[in-house]
Amino acid sequence: MIAVLGVIFLAGGASAYITKSATTTVCEACGMEIEKDAPSTYSILSSDQTVHYGCCPICAEIVGIYYNNSEVSGKCFACSRAITLTIQNGNLTSTSPTGSAYNISVVFGAMCMKNKIVCSNACAESVRGTYDWAADLPLKTTVQSFGIAKTKYSQFTIGYKPITIPNLVYGLIGSGIILLALAPVSWAVMKRRYRAQPIEGKPKE
Ligand SMILES: [Zn+2]
Ligand SMILES: [Zn+2]
Repeated sequence: MIAVLGVIFLAGGASAYITKSATTTVCEACGMEIEKDAPSTYSILSSDQTVHYGCCPICAEIVGIYYNNSEVSGKCFACSRAITLTIQNGNLTSTSPTGSAYNISVVFGAMCMKNKIVCSNACAESVRGTYDWAADLPLKTTVQSFGIAKTKYSQFTIGYKPITIPNLVYGLIGSGIILLALAPVSWAVMKRRYRAQPIEGKPKE
């Protein structure tokens, strides 16, 4: 019984841990916890084929600069079009998509939650028209946003940061392990008690 409880606690704690680490990550620049598949989350592929994450276009560029040669991928905040910035030797070398219909830029709010990348002037207008907080924000070109990232670079300790696991999850895993450890002990105790009981029908002497 104790062993069963232990297994349940352990499994519950472990699955909560696995679920969170599969869906949640941490911005490698500012340390904010973010959902991996959120529309405003950026992934940064470094040249060793490792994926890193950034919470906003500026943080993503900072992470991209840190890995020197990298590809920053995000989505237009208005139309969800895939946007890629390529960084070589710490410099912005190309952006995608290209063409006259596009003008990749950053709606710049000077804080992570308000920095949004867009693919075109129309999308920039759409963001400023849709969100009150964005109505008066300036637009920065990719080159300007990259300049901002370079000046902010030294303010951050860049690199992998672990996600925070709620104490409840540690509690579940901990009590699961304790219960499992206790199980054989309690079994032995029960066995001893059972043996100590006088056998019925056999008179005591
Ligand atoms: Zn960030
Ligand atoms: Zn767009």
